[in-house]
Amino acid sequence: MIIVLKPDCTEDQLGHILEKIEEMGFRHEISKGVKRTLIGVLGEEDQLRNAPLAAIPGVEDVMSVLKPFKLASREFQEHDSVIELGHGIKIGGGALALIAGPCAIEGEDVLRAIAKEVKDAGANVLRGGAFKPRTSPYSFQGLGEEGLKILRAVGDEMKMPVVTEVMDPRQVPLIDKYTDMFQIGARNMQNFNLLTEVGQTNRPVLLKRGMSASIQDLLMSAEYILSNGNMKVILCERGIRSFDSSTRNLLDMAAVPNVKGLSHLPIIVDPSHATGRPDLIPSMALASVAAGADGVHIEVHNCPEKAMSDGPQALLPNQYADLVKQIRDLAAVVGKTIPATQSV
Ligand code: PEP
Ligand code: MN
Repeated sequence: MIIVLKPDCTEDQLGHILEKIEEMGFRHEISKGVKRTLIGVLGEEDQLRNAPLAAIPGVEDVMSVLKPFKLASREFQEHDSVIELGHGIKIGGGALALIAGPCAIEGEDVLRAIAKEVKDAGANVLRGGAFKPRTSPYSFQGLGEEGLKILRAVGDEMKMPVVTEVMDPRQVPLIDKYTDMFQIGARNMQNFNLLTEVGQTNRPVLLKRGMSASIQDLLMSAEYILSNGNMKVILCERGIRSFDSSTRNLLDMAAVPNVKGLSHLPIIVDPSHATGRPDLIPSMALASVAAGADGVHIEVHNCPEKAMSDGPQALLPNQYADLVKQIRDLAAVVGKTIPATQSV
């Protein structure tokens, strides 16, 4: 249910409304728009339908949200969410996040060298996996906490916010100490315990679309995080499984405007995992920005043949720099800005 407050609703009345919602056993989330303040009331649908919410002073209207996702919906919040990522970088509402870095953190010197190159090219968020979700248990699984320490140190040195994957609810407190944003990978999009756990933190979450997930599935997973109190969710289209093996996955570019119509949450595209092909990544990154994406997430390595994970899909630093130049030109045309990191 969504409560629309009267334009002249006082702070006291608002406090009383929130108290009443809690007394009825429901949870609430407030959305302050330019014109109106809305309250999302969360709880069992049947109980909500019968609750006398319209009778509380200060309430103008009570609307039921027919979509299964509530807090993620445009009905709950009309304007785009803007999420601060750290080091002065934000995403959404016209600000593009250029997230770049190696698939896995392999060591301090390698990460520093790649971070410097992507920062010089214009990237504003550094990525790198310390816990890697590998299809084979025999593949490199990541450096674990040592990797997190390296990522934090290099990110701070370069004045870039960092993002790294969390695979298990038990890792959340550890990773929370080192990262600016959690990444939930495609394989964990419906790990509901993990979504609940990151939902109880106050840290931005980059939620990647599962390989066989519908748009509704993706938004329902976001809803798990939002309904636990964390409104800082960024969605990521990273391709879905298809019958065609010429690309690693099938990039669903329509997901971008589709999600934008349904939700206020930022959505970015990861053309690296979506295509698995460096020759296709630049055009798909540009198409993502043209389609309205709030950023692109790209794997870059200075020596792809030696990379311990996803080497064949990595762009070389100079290829990435060329791409960012084109993204800049396009961003100006579509009215987006690229927040810059501070110089070091
Ligand atoms: C990654 O970003 O390195 C990754 C494993 O991505 P995905 O979960 O999209 O496969
Ligand atoms: Mn990867």
